[in-house]
Amino acid sequence: MNELFLSKSRYCRAKQCMKMFWMDQYMPDKKISKASESVFINGTMVGELAKGLFGKYQDIEYSANKKEMIEQTIKYLENKPNIITEASFTYDNNFCSVDILKNDIDGMEIYEVKSSSDVKDIYLDDASYQYFILSNLGFKIKSVNLVHINKEYVRHGDIEINKLFKIENITEIAKEKQTEIEEKIKELNLFMKNNEKSEPKIDIGHHCQNPYNCDYWEYCTRNLPNPNVFDIAEMHWTKKYEKYYEGKADYKDLLDEDLPEKYKEQVDFEVNNKSPKIDKKSIKEFLDELSYPIYFLDFETFQDAIPQFDNENPYKQIPFQYSLHYIEKEGGELKHKEFLGEAGKDPRRDIAERLVKDIPKDVCVTAYNMGFEKGVIRELAEMYPDLSEHLLNIRENIKDLMVPFFRRYYYEKKLAGSYSIKDVLPTLFPDDPELDYHNLPVVHNGGEASETYLSLVGKTKEEQEKLRQGLLVYCKLDTLAMVKIWEKLKEIVE
Ligand code: SF4
Repeated sequence: MNELFLSKSRYCRAKQCMKMFWMDQYMPDKKISKASESVFINGTMVGELAKGLFGKYQDIEYSANKKEMIEQTIKYLENKPNIITEASFTYDNNFCSVDILKNDIDGMEIYEVKSSSDVKDIYLDDASYQYFILSNLGFKIKSVNLVHINKEYVRHGDIEINKLFKIENITEIAKEKQTEIEEKIKELNLFMKNNEKSEPKIDIGHHCQNPYNCDYWEYCTRNLPNPNVFDIAEMHWTKKYEKYYEGKADYKDLLDEDLPEKYKEQVDFEVNNKSPKIDKKSIKEFLDELSYPIYFLDFETFQDAIPQFDNENPYKQIPFQYSLHYIEKEGGELKHKEFLGEAGKDPRRDIAERLVKDIPKDVCVTAYNMGFEKGVIRELAEMYPDLSEHLLNIRENIKDLMVPFFRRYYYEKKLAGSYSIKDVLPTLFPDDPELDYHNLPVVHNGGEASETYLSLVGKTKEEQEKLRQGLLVYCKLDTLAMVKIWEKLKEIVE
């Protein structure tokens, strides 16, 4: 007998970690969610669109009262053959809503919709849990399927829903998982009973990051030293856990460990409170590769699960904005240009045209983490053959301002292994409010930039103007930051 009330998401959370399930019940205030708004928006939009995948459907409206949803489902089930979305069922305290249910004369087909472009193992658990409920209720299930985004799809004209989605039949996997689900529910009941009065003793482990980063990580690691092995930048989780299980979470215990140089350096700087490391010769060699006129370029992009425009793939990076600072000659004035696309209009042609107007051929262009800017420009060049020669020329001339920090020609303790511009800037300019992203009015990071841009459609002119202004000052700070970093590097080697 299942005494807990389980839904498919609660079941999946318990599958990842039973303590997570326990925390949800007893200490939900300890949750620190880092999920991005755009992932949520994309997921909702995909779910809504997918409802029409097989034609006309009857929708069960969401209600906090699950009984209402179930009663409505029972009524719709009588109309077979039909398609019901969010059809809701309960068996032995297990509840699920099926994204799309094909209710045929000879049985049912379950379709679980996901907004991602690949199939994760946890999706199999999610869909198999639905099979568990429906088959135990005595329904004949013909198939269980996962519906997910087809990344290869390219929009031309109206969305072709059958091409946008891929369907994977996972019926056999769902059948194989039935005993496991039954056992897991029993285990979970026992676990919750045994831990009714006290916090369960489950140690952190790979399950904390798989399949999702757990929202209780800060809570579960609260007693570890600060910083600890999990703060070592870019070290693989397997290595981090290896050291953790050896009892070497503390930086002091890692000093003599056989670790790659960059990890040891981070630990060494922290423990021994070292002063900044500055390799002037390498910084100078890097700076000597840059020449006037010099341009500082930064793009903002967004990604759509459902392509809005022609020639767009799901999840393709679509550039909608750039900021460009430039200095034409030594001692010359710092000038600025910028582009921000119109709300709801494909920005790519306009941005490509403006780029070739704003950046002459054969000039030195810098970007911070240039792989991103180069990728955006390559895609624009592929889309617009008439502009490709100039665009590719810009791309060829890009130099990466991140190099001195990535290669650690400059490193200090405060960077804590990071070479991100968002860490480098406050490290080099700790007390400059004009260079502090926290002081910006609307947009403070790339994620907020894309969310803000996508939110412009449907807003009043005044609201749009305020948000556009927020976007412009944010992106402008990104390239001003690059100018300041470049100047600081020059100052260092002088
Ligand atoms: S941080 Fe790890 S151990 Fe703690 S609840 Fe989350 S998954 Fe479980």
